[in-house]
Amino acid sequence: MNVTIIGCDGAYPRVNGATSAYLVQDNETKVLLDCGSGSISRLQNHIELKELDGIVISHYHADHYADLECMQFATMLDTFEKKRENPLVIYGPGEEQMLTYKNFCKGNTFKGKESFTIGSLTFETKLNKHGIEAYSIKVTNEDGECLVYTGDTGYYDELPVFCEEASLLIAESSCYEYERGKLAGHMTGGEAGIVAEKSGVNTLILTHLPHYGDVEKMVDEAKQFFNGEVILARYDSCIEV
Ligand SMILES: [Zn+2]
Ligand SMILES: [Zn+2]
Repeated sequence: MNVTIIGCDGAYPRVNGATSAYLVQDNETKVLLDCGSGSISRLQNHIELKELDGIVISHYHADHYADLECMQFATMLDTFEKKRENPLVIYGPGEEQMLTYKNFCKGNTFKGKESFTIGSLTFETKLNKHGIEAYSIKVTNEDGECLVYTGDTGYYDELPVFCEEASLLIAESSCYEYERGKLAGHMTGGEAGIVAEKSGVNTLILTHLPHYGDVEKMVDEAKQFFNGEVILARYDSCIEV
């Protein structure tokens, strides 16, 4: 299993950039975690849109789902042109109806599900500490390889517990240590490091990065709390799990 960084900006996309979107590939299965602004443009640097099996949305802030409706239209057009046979599977919080698009996209809700599968991948979710209903997402393949993507969240004690099976943690790092506690519902690089250390993952990717300051400093901030590998999210980088 591997994950490719499609979008890693917080709040809004930088020039030619994208907000939250991470392509998880496991054998033939291709799933996008979040579908932020600019993401389906950048996704096409890696796969054709018709190849995507599913999308899992962490929460309904625009920087995490802004391109979803465009992706639904792309799916319809690819189906009309007979490029795509199966509907796109879309999971998210809330109601199924808002994720379903005619017969082209099959919406599903997290509600009432301990886990769900798309292709060879199993997904579990954990309710975060954020301004609206938002989830961390755990992805496990049939070989037991496991990653967690936090979506958006403030630090909470159950988060490292949720991440214990994972070797890779993709954690939001929206602010610097000097801002800790100022931006409710988001973590600093240091707090992401605390989650990584407590959970025992091997590798931490810092993402959902701010547009100001020196983001390289966040790596040092995370390393003050975490002894494993710390990587700053970079467009188009692919990390093996
Ligand atoms: Zn958010
Ligand atoms: Zn966000």
